[in-house]
This record gives sequence, C-alpha cells and structure tokens, in this order.
Amino acid sequence: MNKDKIDLKSLTQEQLEEFFSEFGKEKYRVKQILRWIYQRHVTDFEQMTDLAKQFRSQLEERAYISSWQPEVVETSSDGTRKYLFRLADGESVEAVRIPMDEGRATLCISTQVGCAMGCQFCMTGKFGLARNLRSEEIVNQVCAALQDGPITNIVLMGMGEPLHNLDHVVTALKIFYLDDGLGYGTRRVTLSTCGLVPEIKELSQRIKVHLAVSLNATTDELRNQLMPVNQRYPLAELMSACRDYALTTKQRVTFEYILIGGVNDSITDAKRLVKLLHGVRCKVNLIAYNEHEGAEFKAPAEESIKAFQSHLLQRDIVATLRASKGQDISAACGQLKGKQVDKPAT
Ligand code: SF4
Repeated sequence: MNKDKIDLKSLTQEQLEEFFSEFGKEKYRVKQILRWIYQRHVTDFEQMTDLAKQFRSQLEERAYISSWQPEVVETSSDGTRKYLFRLADGESVEAVRIPMDEGRATLCISTQVGCAMGCQFCMTGKFGLARNLRSEEIVNQVCAALQDGPITNIVLMGMGEPLHNLDHVVTALKIFYLDDGLGYGTRRVTLSTCGLVPEIKELSQRIKVHLAVSLNATTDELRNQLMPVNQRYPLAELMSACRDYALTTKQRVTFEYILIGGVNDSITDAKRLVKLLHGVRCKVNLIAYNEHEGAEFKAPAEESIKAFQSHLLQRDIVATLRASKGQDISAACGQLKGKQVDKPAT
C-alpha cells in the first residue's frame, strides 16, 4: 500500500525541508510535523490540525509515517524489558530497555538483522548477517519503546555492527538529535563498535556520537581468536584510531571489556590493558561474561573481577563494573538473536 510513498521517519530535517519545498512549504512547517511525529506519536496526517487541509491531503498522497508495536515483550525479574519487532519482510530484531536509578532508562537498539562480524562470545554473530536495518527501522525501535516509558539514553549495542551500516546509522543519529523531534543530546547516545578502523575515522568526520569500542583482549593473538575483525584491523591500528577519535571529538572513548574466566581476566591482562590505553582519553566498562546454556566460555571468578578492576583504578583508569541485566530473558550483552519467533518458513 505504501510502496510508492516516502516514510517521513526515514528523513533528516534537511531532507524533510527539501521534500516540503516541493509543496512550496516554509521550513517552519517541518518543525510542526516533527513535533506531531516524535513528540505526540501521531501517524495520521488528518490529525495534524495546525497544517492546512490541502497540505494534509498532499502529504497523504505522497508520504506516510511508519509506526511499530513490539510483537513480543518480555520482562526480566530485574525490570529489564526486551522487545521483539517483526519487520515487513518477516525478519525480526530486538531492543532492550535497561532500567537505571531514579526512573532513568537506557535503550539498547539493533542496527542490523544478524551480524557479519562473528565475535566468538556473541549469539547474534552465530547467525551471520541477514541485512542492514534502514534508518526508519532503527528510529522506530526508539519510538516504540518510548510508548512504554521514558528513555534517557540510547546505545547502539544490540544486534549488528553499527559501523557496518554507516549511512543508515548516521541518518538515524541525525533524527535522534532533532530538537523538535526526539531531542537527544549527542552525549546521550553511544555507538558501540567491534573495531572497524576506517569507519571509526569516517564517523568522526560525519557526526558527533559517544564511541564505545568492544575490546575484550590485550594481545592480537587472543583478539584474533575472539574477534575476527582483529585480523583486518589489529590492536595497534585500532588504538591509534581511538586516540584520534578522542582528540577530534574531544570526548572520551569507552572501552568495553568482557571478562571471560581463564581467558582474559588475569592480572597480566590487566597490566597489558593499562599499556594499551596509554595516551587515550578513555574509560573502561568491565562486564562479567554471561555463562548461559550452551555457552563456550566461563564466567570470571569474583576475585578475578575485583583484582582486575583494582589494578586499573590504581593506575588512574576509570573502570566501572557494569552489572549484566536481563539474563533470565536472554537480554544480556551478546545474547540477542531474535530467538523467540523465527522467520516464517517459506
Ligand atoms: Fe556483531 Fe557485536 Fe556480536 Fe560482534 S559482538 S558479532 S559486532 S553483534
């Protein structure tokens, strides 16, 4: 039905202005429509009563506004909520709402159906890449979750490698930042990458966003095994790109480090990590590996986690231990895979 129409949720402010100029409409009309779409969640042009009737009919003919409802919502005993969305082509993606203190919440969203990066500790990676998400499909995860309560921060850390889908991700970020739309400040959005070096550089030229890098190893030998991307972009290149990113954007880079029992959680690893981070404005998020059914790796021992974190803190590296949430509903880091409902068999 909407095949020949344009989805207004796929457009940035500049693109909307260009589209509206075809109808001879002024720029401020864009602000009006942004408020209807993103603040009042209205999808029917007829309800946009501050737009002229004729303009509403013109829009109806040429455009539409997509809107998502989750197909499944699961709530963990710790309050984490996982949303599964069915896409028009039958694929599915997941987003996770993680409750924080004082009524705040972070939403972790997906950028691809599946992922091509093949990280060993990640369920999403096991299924390979099906396709990229379009910008409106990235944006709609946030819009749908907002209907379920406020979201303070957005992290692009769900299914997929955001920098492997850079154009659509940059468009989605621009839409998140719209003052008259969702209004997220650049500091409230974090993009997490496994380490695609040329795209990290390109990202810093194209848009502002807080960068998180999934590091997880301190030698090329181990990182090559855990994260095949390292065979293309080894640690020295990655760290140099991160150093430049922090300098260009004047923002600290966050390094995510999943502590895996007996693999990367020793004091020797912690010492190497301190060396690697030398000269990079950064902080470290330590995450204890989730040992789940069928998992290849082991969770780290409590003492190893503490010793690892203390070593970093003593060397003046900000190192927080991130609690892993939503484990009982497979919503924790690396567990997203759209597992509840598979694609209908064709
Ligand atoms: Fe892809 Fe991220 Fe999983 Fe690696 S950890 S396979 S980049 S989704």
